[in-house]
Amino acid sequence: MKMPFKLKVIVALFKLARQRQRFERNPQAHQQRMWRTFGQTTLSKSPLYKDIAHRSIDAFPVQGKEEFNRDFDRINTRGIRYNHALQVADEAESSRDFTPTIDGVTVGLSSGTSGNRGIFLVSEEERASWVAMVLQRILGFSLRKRKVAFFLRANSKLYTSVQSRLIQFAFFDLLIPLEHHLTRLNDLQPTIVVGQPSLLMMLVEAQEQGTLHIAPQKIISVAEVLSDEDKAALKVCFQVPVQQVYQCNEGMFGQTCSQGNFHLNEDGLLIEKEWLDATRFQPIITDMRRKVQPVIRYKMNDILHATECTCGSKMIAVSQIEGRTDDVLHFPGGKRVFPDFIRRTVIGAHPAISNYQIIQEGSDQLSIYVEPIDQWESAKNALGRLFEDQNIQGVSFLKLTDKRHILGTKFRRIHAQRS
Ligand SMILES: [Zn+2]
Repeated sequence: MKMPFKLKVIVALFKLARQRQRFERNPQAHQQRMWRTFGQTTLSKSPLYKDIAHRSIDAFPVQGKEEFNRDFDRINTRGIRYNHALQVADEAESSRDFTPTIDGVTVGLSSGTSGNRGIFLVSEEERASWVAMVLQRILGFSLRKRKVAFFLRANSKLYTSVQSRLIQFAFFDLLIPLEHHLTRLNDLQPTIVVGQPSLLMMLVEAQEQGTLHIAPQKIISVAEVLSDEDKAALKVCFQVPVQQVYQCNEGMFGQTCSQGNFHLNEDGLLIEKEWLDATRFQPIITDMRRKVQPVIRYKMNDILHATECTCGSKMIAVSQIEGRTDDVLHFPGGKRVFPDFIRRTVIGAHPAISNYQIIQEGSDQLSIYVEPIDQWESAKNALGRLFEDQNIQGVSFLKLTDKRHILGTKFRRIHAQRS
């Protein structure tokens, strides 16, 4: 007999709680045991990995998005072809029908910023486990009915799975301008709002202008870099702290803890760190909870800041996600500047600066957008001083009169364009 979905979620909740407990008791022993089981039950079914399924993780190749897509057909354990999955996902997206499946496996399309689109495959068990993760680590339990406003580019069966008698899920299409959502938002009065920071900041603006009046108890930031300024502005506006969720291709990688840091879910993930400097690292992630499409040594493009946390968890603590490695600014002579320096410099240039975007469009040219625009010179001068300090010469500055942001895509505040 097929187990109903809700029961699967409950089973997954118990499993998750037990895994977390075991990890916190003895991280290494837990991960080794889980890795062995994962090799036997999952990797042994993957054409790409079956011959090395019994080996330690070092035997597996590190992959980026490109290799992950290239090897799609051989990685997944259900014999699903990339082209077929892409076709199914495309058809679903163009008809705005968000339930594409192949043999019971949900097919999703990742909203990649680069041309190469990622496809993810999730079985019903994995969906249940995802829901359990969201309930246990992000939304938390409550016996009161909660309404979640979720801003997404495309809805997915994965997200609506969270729906239950106690959680009402409302999907807001990111491709539709915010002003068309305001009435519905005001009527809904969401308890929880989930969206990317650029969208959340539009909510702040609307709330301040009086066109929006909501009082959420939780704000959850996803997808883009959440800067300290935006975090503070959101807190002032809605009077609740902002939580961050780190996820990709529907893997739930980490979330904010009680101390305001976030932890990577090492009770199901193996994290290898590629250090960029003393505190910054690029994570290489192995997700031992993915069964249909194992994610093995997947190198993320994100720059994470390692920190120590006092909350008691032994899982890796991260103070912030700084941005993507491809948004590190590179200058002649091998000089590089991390996005966080640029951010601090622009914000520190003048207290009135409320929004900005910096795009590197060539090794010696920066385009700068600043709000209010009359502070453009201060931002430019501050950046000039930063480069002088770093011995970076000959950078020219261009004035942008508007942000570059395509509706429905991720907003990249500090962006290095490589041509
Ligand atoms: Zn913590």
